Amino acid sequence: MTADIIDGKAFALTVRSRVAAHVAGLKADHGITPGLAVVLVGEDPASQVYVRAKGKKTVETGMNSFEHTLDAGTSEADLLALIDRLNGDPAVHGILVQLPLPGHIDSAKVLNAIDPAKDADGFHITNVGLLATGQKAMVPCTPLGCLMMLRDRLGSLSGLNAVVVGRSNIVGKPMAQLLLKEHCTVTIAHSRTRDLAGVCRGADILVAAVGRPGMVKGDWIKPGATVIDVGINRVPAPEKGAGKHRIVGDVEFASALEVAGAITPVPGGVGPMTIAILLANTVTACCRANGLPEPDGLTA
Ligand code: NDP
Repeated sequence: MTADIIDGKAFALTVRSRVAAHVAGLKADHGITPGLAVVLVGEDPASQVYVRAKGKKTVETGMNSFEHTLDAGTSEADLLALIDRLNGDPAVHGILVQLPLPGHIDSAKVLNAIDPAKDADGFHITNVGLLATGQKAMVPCTPLGCLMMLRDRLGSLSGLNAVVVGRSNIVGKPMAQLLLKEHCTVTIAHSRTRDLAGVCRGADILVAAVGRPGMVKGDWIKPGATVIDVGINRVPAPEKGAGKHRIVGDVEFASALEVAGAITPVPGGVGPMTIAILLANTVTACCRANGLPEPDGLTA
């Protein structure tokens, strides 16, 4: 068997087109332009790349992008004051604070200072609680993107065995909550899990969100399973030249391809979906703030 490749790049393009169409409607029918504010503290090169990409895609879909770049020494109080201003700004419907923040800033305090209704990343404890209790929430982008790909591939997920490897607040836990909401039987695995390979072999849906290159092997996968590889790992690529790197996932792609029914590649799988969902979340937040219908199929 050779697995189907789930093309996250193509899927993300369709999500962004749907977002853009909804934005055009909001402008034409209501004179409203959704706006996303992205806050970056410090000069982390990877974060700078992400923030630029987010700003570009925001503008491409017809929304306003407000970028706030603060220097690494910015105090927590100044950052909280900025969040407060953005919370009160009617042109801003979504707020994202790029992580990681410098060590002297309490990330949880900052994330919980964002108005939950503008919490484009879905990390505020109110949204965490709403999701966990099956209520309407702002949902973290990466797991929501994974869910959309799973729904697109499988239709109903009801009754399927889902294994999520990784229990972080930004990927593993919300992913598990979303799958539970879809009526999957969910197992969350982590670094202390016994017989991880055996646990994974029981999965109809296997989501790997670990940060360990190629950890999940082909023989950990149930034949025909749908595999979502969230991992983004930079590994040396001497074949590309001295000092060069390439990006790989948490799943050993070549061996998984022989067993799975479908798999997301890295790069080109989950990654592109994350930004697309950020844009979708901003439009959703804008619609909710204005009491207007939300775009179909772009929320959990
Ligand atoms: P974290 O480091 O926060 O969490 C990793 C999780 O993996 C932890 O729960 C940890 O378990 C578990 N883990 C670590 N080692 C093992 C092991 N040997 N066996 C089983 N479980 C293990 O990572 P994130 O959730 O933030 O990210 C995970 C991956 O996803 C990373 O590669 C990251 O770059 C990528 N990512 C990709 C995104 C995208 O857009 N595609 C977005 C966000 C993340 P424990 O809790 O016991 O320590």
